[in-house]
Amino acid sequence: MKKLKLKAVVLALLLSASAMAQNDGIPVSKLSRMRGLAGADAAQFDQQSKLQYNQMLSEAHKKDAVATDNNPQLIRLRAIARRIIPFTSRWNPDAAKWDWQVNLLRSDTVNAFCMPGGRIAFYNGILTKLNLTDDEVAMVMGHEIAHALREHAREQAGKNNVTSLLGRVAGAAGAAYFGLDPRLGDAVGSGAARVASLSFSRTDETEADLVGMDLAARAGFDPRAGIALWQKMGAINKNQPISFLSTHPAGKDRIKEMNDNMHLVLPVYARAKGLDPNKLPAYHSIALPKS
Ligand SMILES: [Zn+2]
Repeated sequence: MKKLKLKAVVLALLLSASAMAQNDGIPVSKLSRMRGLAGADAAQFDQQSKLQYNQMLSEAHKKDAVATDNNPQLIRLRAIARRIIPFTSRWNPDAAKWDWQVNLLRSDTVNAFCMPGGRIAFYNGILTKLNLTDDEVAMVMGHEIAHALREHAREQAGKNNVTSLLGRVAGAAGAAYFGLDPRLGDAVGSGAARVASLSFSRTDETEADLVGMDLAARAGFDPRAGIALWQKMGAINKNQPISFLSTHPAGKDRIKEMNDNMHLVLPVYARAKGLDPNKLPAYHSIALPKS
């Protein structure tokens, strides 16, 4: 009898600890009122995003540019995604029902995206040219997932009063990055290329950085990797402009914003790893490959 009672107390303590865990980190704000789309429009938007992702994949397949399930880098990406996804519903309750997908495109392009509904794609170039650690991959993935969770694309569609994201970005000059890659050449016409090349507002970018850090920290990835990631992006961009930066302007502001919020996410990371938040070992990146 006594034992049972103790169990109940332990359970209550655990529950309050997990409730507390929900409240630290980056504070959750309400989703934008500018989401604009409701009901049938929202369903159509999701359907369109799915179509675009599948179209992008089938175009890439024709060029033999989609990594197969046994590709080690794809296995690595999916393992990282599996750790992050359980924490996404904190930022958007719908995410629990999303049909999450992760694919790797065999392309030197330095980019990655997550389309609405959890459809993720990484280009091999971002892994190899930046020599990303798992923590840094988690920061890219967290950032891209955050755009989808916070419905930034949908918000833009709402603002522009069009139900079709394709319509919103048709002919957008920003679509060019696919075209830089010879293997994916005419995939430039695909909807997904345009979705990936959507530029978001500064506010959306900041939100994606912070939500991304929070997601990664909860999944046990070092949020300080975000700083290393953006430093690497900046360094490599000096020699060769990279597409990720054409839609994600780098700069000191971004790094400063992340540093200013680091104290909120480091305890979350420490807890996830079972480490003392005051005695965290320094973050170690891997140097850029020699060019
Ligand atoms: Zn972004």
